[in-house]
Amino acid sequence: MHKVIFKKAAYDYETLKPILFEMIDSISGDCIKRQDRVLIKPNLLLPAKPEKAILTHPLVVRVVAEYIQSKGGYVQISDSPATGSFEKILKEGGYKKTLKDIGVEFKEFQASVKVDIGEPFGSIDIAKDAVEADVVINLAKLKTHSQMLLTLGVKNMFGCIVGLKKPEWHFRSGVDREIFAKLLVQIYNTIKPSITIIDGILAMEGQGPGKSGIPRYLGILVGSNNAPAADMAICSMLGMEPDNLLTVKEAKKTGLVGNKIHISGDFYMVNDFLLPAQTSLMFGPKVFHKFMRKHLLQRPLADNHICQLCGECWQYCPTKSITKQEKGIGFDYDRCIRCYCCIEVCPHGALSSAEPLPGRIFSLFR
Ligand code: SF4
Ligand code: SF4
Repeated sequence: MHKVIFKKAAYDYETLKPILFEMIDSISGDCIKRQDRVLIKPNLLLPAKPEKAILTHPLVVRVVAEYIQSKGGYVQISDSPATGSFEKILKEGGYKKTLKDIGVEFKEFQASVKVDIGEPFGSIDIAKDAVEADVVINLAKLKTHSQMLLTLGVKNMFGCIVGLKKPEWHFRSGVDREIFAKLLVQIYNTIKPSITIIDGILAMEGQGPGKSGIPRYLGILVGSNNAPAADMAICSMLGMEPDNLLTVKEAKKTGLVGNKIHISGDFYMVNDFLLPAQTSLMFGPKVFHKFMRKHLLQRPLADNHICQLCGECWQYCPTKSITKQEKGIGFDYDRCIRCYCCIEVCPHGALSSAEPLPGRIFSLFR
C-alpha cells in the first residue's frame, strides 16, 4: 500500500528545513547517490509572485535542493513555462534570490527526445533533461484547474512537454478529459519521479491554475513516492471523491495505485474548498457532442475591462479560437475545445469560465 505523509508547515526556512528533510528521508531519501544528477521539477507556470500561489514556493525548492546537496547530488531546476520567459519567472517568483548562495543550475527545458509512453499515444517528445536525469523530484503545487479540477502531483509532470507541444497535446486530446488524463498518467509513469512533494501551504482555489485563482492558506505539505497516491490523499482532504480526479481514476485503472493508501501525519479535512465549476464529461451518441460542447460545457469568458490585449491567450490557444477585437477579445465557441489553456496563461487574470444558460438549466435536472 502506498504511503502518503501530511506535515503542517509554513514558509519559514527554520521551520521548513527539518520538516522537509524528515519527509524526504522517510519517503525515499536513499534514492539519491553521490554525484547523481537530480532534477527538481517545480511548478513554474508563468511569472508570478509567491503570494499568488501559482508556483511552488521558492523556499520549498531551496530546502529540497539543500537536501539533495547533503547527499552529494548535483541539482538542476527545470520546467517549461506555459507563458512568459523562464528568466522572468525565476526573478518574479523569487527563485534567483532565494537560491542564489547554494550553487544550483536553473535550466529551462528545451531539447526533447522521443519516448514511447505506451498506447494510444506511442512515441512522444519529452524534455531530454527529465528523461536523462538520475533522479527526478516532483515539486508540485496544490491548485485548482479549470479543465482537470485540480493540478497536483501527476499533472505537474506535464511541464516536461516542451513549449508549444503542450497546446498541441490539448488539441489532440480535444474535449475529452479522460484521454487527457490518460496522457498525463502515461507521462508521469514514463518519467517516474522518485519523490513527489505537493506544496499546499499557500494553495489555490476557485478558477485556477493561473491568475484567476484565489490563494487559500492550508498550511500543509504532502509527500509520497507515488504521485497518484498523494493526489488521492489530497482529494480526501478536500472532501472529494478521488475518482472525480480523472488522473487518479486513470492511475487506478493502470494499476499505479490501489483503492487504499496509507496516510500518516497531520492529515485534516478542509470542508469548504472552492473547486472550479465543471460540467460532466460528454455523454450519449457522438453526433450530439458538438451541440453539447457549444451549449452545455463551461466556456471561457473574458473581462474586457481587465484584458490588456497582450496576446498571450490567442498565441497559446491550440485551436486558434480567440481573436483580437476593438475592445478586448472574442471567442469562436464552435472551434473552442474547452481546454481552458487561455485562462491558465492569461497574465492579467482577465479570463474565467462560465456555464452557458442551457448548461445551467440542464444542471438543475442532473
Ligand atoms: S485575455 Fe488575458 S491573455 Fe488574452 S489578451 Fe487579454 S490580457 Fe492578454
Ligand atoms: S479558447 Fe481557450 S479554452 Fe478554447 S480552445 Fe482556445 S485556449 Fe482552449
